[in-house]
Amino acid sequence: MANPSLLILAGDGIGPEVMAEVKKIIAWMGSRRGIRFSVSEDLVGGCAYDAHGTPLTDETMARAQAADAVLLGAVGGPKYDKLDFSVKPERGLLRLRKEMDLYANLRPAQCFDALADFSSLKKEIIAGLDIMIVRELTGGVYFGEPRGIFPDNEGGRVGINTQRYTTNEIRRVARSAFELARRRNNKVCSMEKANVMESGILWREEVQWVHDNEYPDVELSHMYADAGAMQLVRWPKQFDVIVTDNLFGDLLSDCAAMLTGSLGMLPSASLGAPMKNGRPKALYEPVHGSAPDIAGQGKANPIACILSFAMALRYSFDLGDEAARVEKAVEKVLADGVRTADLMGPEGGKPVSTSGMGDAIVTALDASLA
Ligand code: NAD
Repeated sequence: MANPSLLILAGDGIGPEVMAEVKKIIAWMGSRRGIRFSVSEDLVGGCAYDAHGTPLTDETMARAQAADAVLLGAVGGPKYDKLDFSVKPERGLLRLRKEMDLYANLRPAQCFDALADFSSLKKEIIAGLDIMIVRELTGGVYFGEPRGIFPDNEGGRVGINTQRYTTNEIRRVARSAFELARRRNNKVCSMEKANVMESGILWREEVQWVHDNEYPDVELSHMYADAGAMQLVRWPKQFDVIVTDNLFGDLLSDCAAMLTGSLGMLPSASLGAPMKNGRPKALYEPVHGSAPDIAGQGKANPIACILSFAMALRYSFDLGDEAARVEKAVEKVLADGVRTADLMGPEGGKPVSTSGMGDAIVTALDASLA
């Protein structure tokens, strides 16, 4: 079998810096575990605009469609702020998500013990936390029609957005959540506002339908999204997988992510329908942006990008053991007190550079084989 293909789009700002550390892990997997990828690289975002006048060329889009997985760094920066909306760096990312039809956005919120003090919540509430938020990414109020700002009947204006979900849109993201739960602790909590929104009633009924007909072995509960927000900060460890719509997921996943500390630690995956080879269309990327304030200084934390690659190992390549190996290496390095600047506590100390963190993780991977 040919090696699975991985398209790397490092992007702008700290994107290439953190991606350089991921490449060390990819190389390690090849040399020490015999797991080889056919890696290619291309441009996205501001650097693509500089080279081609567009944040994503048709050729790059076609390569992304053909790849077994896409790994993205970050896009954007002040240099591109004044560009026309149609060619802004973010348009490249949005085009990838839209044309690959990546409807399930996976955002883990995992608390490494060594960083439990970073949370704004008490340590006992957060230590050992490991939850996954699955956010519907291609439907709902961000896309529904009609939308716009119109004159109203009283001489003023009216702003309209439409929350709209179909059976198919709900069922396919529910399936993603149930599949994930089976690989984890077998529990799904679905969140909507069925008490005040018809789309919420449909959401609840369809998620229940998928459960009853296809995943009766998974424990399913329903919660109103506002109550879910409260429960997330009251006792987050009650959850395993949360599935929710685009708007609520936007808020709830940011809230859950910040339970665990720095932006430099947060990976994500966006998955679509299975391809011919059974793998889902997939884009893996850190949650953070291009961090222009620290770009080019060797200060960026590469862990979010490295953990995004670990998600690719697990969800695109069925290499859960190797993903866990990478995650354990990160945990070990943090437990040993290795910190990039964003992870320095008030007690201070000397931070390592971006490449120092990558090297420490490779050393921990070596140690995992000893
Ligand atoms: P940002 O995530 O780039 O940075 C926010 C803060 O977090 C900054 O202080 C930054 O230094 C810090 N930070 C982020 N990642 C870090 C890391 N890995 N290690 C250490 N510190 C880190 O968000 P922003 O400043 O709002 O946006 C900057 C640019 O990135 C903008 O052009 C924005 O449009 C773009 N952006 C892109 C994405 C993406 O590519 N997915 C996401 C968000 C923002």
